[in-house]
Amino acid sequence: MTDHTADVVILGGGSGGYAAAIRAAELGKSVILIEKDKVGGTCLHRGCIPTKALLHAAEVADHVRDAGAVGVTATLEGIDIARVTTYREGIVAKKFKGLEGLVKARGITVVAGEGRLAPDRSVTVGDDVYRGGDVILATGSYSRTLPGLEIGGRVLTSDGALALEEIPERVVILGGGVIGVEFASVWRSFGAEVTVVEALDHLVPNEDIALSKALERAFRKRGITAKLGVRFAGVTQTDAAVSVALEDGTAIEANYLLVAVGRGPATAGLGFEEAGVAIERGFVTVDGRLQTSVPHVWAVGDIVPGLQLAHRGFQQGIFAAEQIAGLSPVAIPESTIPRVTYSSPEVASVGLTEAQARELHGDAVVAYEYNLAGNGKSEILGTAGIVKVIRQVDGPVVGVHMVGDRVGELITEGQLAVGWEAHPEDLAPLIHAHPTQSEALGEAFLALAGKPLHAL
Ligand SMILES: Cc1cc2nc3c(=O)[nH]c(=O)nc-3n(C[C@H](O)[C@H](O)[C@H](O)COP(=O)(O)OP(=O)(O)OC[C@H]3O[C@@H](n4cnc5c(N)ncnc54)[C@H](O)[C@@H]3O)c2cc1C
Repeated sequence: MTDHTADVVILGGGSGGYAAAIRAAELGKSVILIEKDKVGGTCLHRGCIPTKALLHAAEVADHVRDAGAVGVTATLEGIDIARVTTYREGIVAKKFKGLEGLVKARGITVVAGEGRLAPDRSVTVGDDVYRGGDVILATGSYSRTLPGLEIGGRVLTSDGALALEEIPERVVILGGGVIGVEFASVWRSFGAEVTVVEALDHLVPNEDIALSKALERAFRKRGITAKLGVRFAGVTQTDAAVSVALEDGTAIEANYLLVAVGRGPATAGLGFEEAGVAIERGFVTVDGRLQTSVPHVWAVGDIVPGLQLAHRGFQQGIFAAEQIAGLSPVAIPESTIPRVTYSSPEVASVGLTEAQARELHGDAVVAYEYNLAGNGKSEILGTAGIVKVIRQVDGPVVGVHMVGDRVGELITEGQLAVGWEAHPEDLAPLIHAHPTQSEALGEAFLALAGKPLHAL
């Protein structure tokens, strides 16, 4: 048994863990980062980056298919999935190399192996013990399934979907949340027949209802079938196909079933509870400063209840490192974290939905919807969609919600508005370059400030 010590020991090298490691090292702390697979975690290797590369390939396919509409002669001859995979893996490999270089340059010690939390702020890996002045837990999440629904064969999670070496002719996706909707978009662009099954009444059900409805309309136009408000009953599979039964009596035949019903916290069997760390429904309980029930043991990322997003993990990792280093970082409220679904069309939002705002502020809320039909750049790009901004009466902007191709890139402005509690009157004088899609946001701010330009 060998004993190692460092100021900070971090268990898990994904978005939350590696951000904490980098920031702690920047602040002069010695850092040991324990990772059983690859630094970068889900986001880099199996999540954000590979799926966005796929979505980009899908966008290119759509552009080629629609090229004639803008006078460019081109024919989509097919999708070479092996080359799409090479492109995707190339991007991940490049980002991984860059990250490894960064971690090394910061003098962070990376330990390869499966760690387990032990009492007294230590983590064991095999016979070795890593003791920290502080310990940060960042073990991430895994794809959930439903009771009795076994993953295997033609029943896939997002990991299996990424590993697929073919484009399915027909696919059923269970779950109309972010991951389900993004795969639906990719596979449809690649030519598959796609059915999304969602037990709730809408796609992306956590979003403002206006965005859900706009996405459903756009998906319908694209030929993606959405079965909403209906529950999954069971699946059978053969060597070549699956048959998915729904509680309304329908059966859907397809080549694969993708199970995208959310992600669970990876906290079981890692010694957390034995070391005194409080857990609730699998998630680590933390206070407002990310400290667990054990002093000097912190938790960040997907194991902390709330939005399971990489940029939240980064921010929490930075926050925990600064807290440990004795700084007084400002806690970022969950409500000002931007959320983007990168399907075609994209869905992007920050802050309260209209329903949430009305629940909090009653009638003292104004919502304004600007249709992208009035936006020149969106017309040029051929995208429909809306920008919806919500303010308190005589008060700040509390929510920004958008749907349309490329609107994900606009959410930062929404975040600034909501995060800084700006009033539309503060924002109205700011100039948005013409012609850009950001003008749609500008128009919504103008309208809410009582001086609409290209709108009534
Ligand atoms: C298909 C898909 C697409 C996504 N797209 C986006 C997106 O576009 N934008 C976005 O913001 N988010 C996206 N996410 C979510 C994002 O990936 C996660 O929110 C983020 O990775 C969480 O970071 P984390 O550090 O908490 O956990 P993870 O990234 O899961 O990292 C945890 C790490 O801990 C390691 N680990 C676990 N247990 C141990 C142990 N006992 N010992 C050693 N190491 C251990 C794991 O190997 C892993 O590397 C996506 C997720 C998926 C699945």
